[in-house]
Amino acid sequence: MSLKRLQIRIEGIVQGVGFRPFVFRLASESRLNGWVLNDSAGVLLEVEGFSSAVDDFVAALSNQLPPLASISRFYLEEQPLTGESGFRIVSSQQSDHLVAQISPDTHVCQDCLQELFDPSDRRYLYPFINCTNCGPRYSLVTAVPYDRPSTTMADFQMCSSCQQEYDNPVSRRFHAQPNACSACGPDLKLYDHAGHKLATRDPLAEVVKALHGGQIVAIKGLGGYHLAVDPHNEKAVARLRQRKKRDEKPFALMARDLDAAAEFVQITTEEKRLLETVERPIVLLEQRAEQRLICQLVAPRNRYFGVMLPYTPLHYLLLQEFPALVMTSANQTDEPIVFEDTEVFSHLAGIADLYLGHNRRIHIRTDDSIVRVLADAPVLMRRSRGYVPRAVRLPVAQPVVLAVGAELKNCICLTSGDRATLSHHIGDLKNPAVLKSLHQANDHLQQLLGVHPELIAHDLHPDYASTSFAQTIPNVPKLAIQHHHAHLASCLVDNGRDEEVIGVIFDGIGYGSDQHIWGGEFLLGDLGGFERVGHLSELAMPGGDAATREPWRMAFSLLYQAFGEDIPELSLFDDISPADKKLLCQMLGKGINSPLTSSCGRLFDAVSALAGLRNIVSYEGQAALELEMCLDDCLSLPAYTFELEKRAGQFVVTFSTLTRQLVADLEQGVSAGQISARFHQGLADIVLQSCVKIRAEYGARPVVLSGGVFQNAYLTERVCQLLKNEHFEVLTHRQVPPNDGGIALGQAAIAGRFLQT
Ligand code: ZN
Ligand code: ZN
Ligand code: FE
Repeated sequence: MSLKRLQIRIEGIVQGVGFRPFVFRLASESRLNGWVLNDSAGVLLEVEGFSSAVDDFVAALSNQLPPLASISRFYLEEQPLTGESGFRIVSSQQSDHLVAQISPDTHVCQDCLQELFDPSDRRYLYPFINCTNCGPRYSLVTAVPYDRPSTTMADFQMCSSCQQEYDNPVSRRFHAQPNACSACGPDLKLYDHAGHKLATRDPLAEVVKALHGGQIVAIKGLGGYHLAVDPHNEKAVARLRQRKKRDEKPFALMARDLDAAAEFVQITTEEKRLLETVERPIVLLEQRAEQRLICQLVAPRNRYFGVMLPYTPLHYLLLQEFPALVMTSANQTDEPIVFEDTEVFSHLAGIADLYLGHNRRIHIRTDDSIVRVLADAPVLMRRSRGYVPRAVRLPVAQPVVLAVGAELKNCICLTSGDRATLSHHIGDLKNPAVLKSLHQANDHLQQLLGVHPELIAHDLHPDYASTSFAQTIPNVPKLAIQHHHAHLASCLVDNGRDEEVIGVIFDGIGYGSDQHIWGGEFLLGDLGGFERVGHLSELAMPGGDAATREPWRMAFSLLYQAFGEDIPELSLFDDISPADKKLLCQMLGKGINSPLTSSCGRLFDAVSALAGLRNIVSYEGQAALELEMCLDDCLSLPAYTFELEKRAGQFVVTFSTLTRQLVADLEQGVSAGQISARFHQGLADIVLQSCVKIRAEYGARPVVLSGGVFQNAYLTERVCQLLKNEHFEVLTHRQVPPNDGGIALGQAAIAGRFLQT
């Protein structure tokens, strides 16, 4: 029988996921000789033995991968025989080209859970149990290659029992970098409201007692601190709202298990799958009407609860005592999630009654991710813990680009070859603390990928903090990219496509190529460029930015556009004096401090205010969200009528008939739920009509749906259905959010194409 020797290079998520032990076991079982090592590109190995055994080994490598591993590239090369005997794992090598993919943080695996609750196991009830198949990764990696000294676990010296597991190729903890036990690893620590350490032998028992008593406890998790409170206790939830100054934005819940969650939400098969995936995101689930377990204050005026299952061993221990807990990101309003032990007491002063911390450092913050099922498929609302730093594949390899995203829901993106790595969710850059987090994310990404950008892509908006950030980076050329073009490109790349499409891009606000505020756009374009072929009619925003916070202003503007100064008498405007109304009309008439916008988000605001839902908002997108939440399509009232005109070669969707129909409904006392249904249906109809006209004029192309408005389930599902009925191919987001959290991906791909043409 013939012998052969192969060198195999593997790239992908192959570090920190038990890949070398897996190779070792496989090679030993097949009696092959050679070695395996981690380097900065991934895994490199050589095997030598009988040809048939080597071939079987190669097949098994890809067929029997460890649960968290995934291979993106695989190279084989035959080598001369060396006659070496035995198989060994060689310690890590540094190389100058770093492309090794770090695994995301992953929920605790079944094997570890079994041990956690087994009284005879040496890690019985140990809150930091993990193995090569599970546990923290991204949040504690400080550098690549992924080895214990390059993680925050470098602080702990393994005891002899842990070291034996770590060195034993048949152990589930062979080279598990965060391996630890109660004798040698991190432990829990309890602090009072002022940050004084409390002497207790059982911190967890104290926390359970405090939560049962209605107290607010800050709990250190995987990517940052949560604030926990008993969701059944209305007074406690109210106290949390008041202390966080968070009047209405929903709080996330962590349920003990699926059965516990099923008590208060409805769960479809797809949603069940999402709740249980290794990423463990928050899933938006419809509330059960008759449930009594969770008080309404957890998610006021919302039909959904954001629910996740436990993902760390500590969560499992804690949730033994509760069917569910509020687990909301620990931060002051609009600030990033608190993750550093040095800042936690000052940042949460006056909010938390008690702190449950531990001494395993978090290197980089990552919020919980949020997913919603739209049109039977999961769509990310926020892509962070569990997904980051998994890369998105670009259509072609490109020069290195850094894309710095937009202003709200900021997330940045760094490319390397044909892979785009998006950062964790950074947040709203108006806040200085969030801006600091942007700098950290940028440094961290460049270090992990080991690349430096040749071009920096930023939003066309001159006043975004992300634009200023890009401007401050010296000696690298910059490229400004129109906001909605970036949305279009993001959805294209998200679907692995590279061609011209019709983009229906509906969002809150984006800076247009004509320096106006856009946000209800029909574009024809690809990665190389775009043409604005249509848009929603422009509405004035009386008071400028104030109109974003005060939807009644948009309602007034919509009425002014349809009726002029004869604004109908509506109770909505009862608080406004006739003199002020006159002043508003003058502002609108003369265009004083009333910038025009084609924003779909602002149109939603106007309708939400007219329907009596929301005059003033306390968080971004609230008016539109509440309009969707109240939707009642049980009745068969027809859709409102939007009209389509052609102006200067562009299709323009106008609102005057719609506005008259809406006012007539208000006079008839039609409910907000039905107004909402008629509005949503009308909007979906006009999207279809516009796409049909665009197709007739420019030819058939797929339609991409992107922008924050397409987080709206009813609208998205209806638009998809109508377009498909008319034989359009429809592309929606899969790997990154439709909102501005996904925009950096589009910027990166457009910039890459720019460099290559
Ligand atoms: Zn495990
Ligand atoms: Zn130990
Ligand atoms: Fe946007």
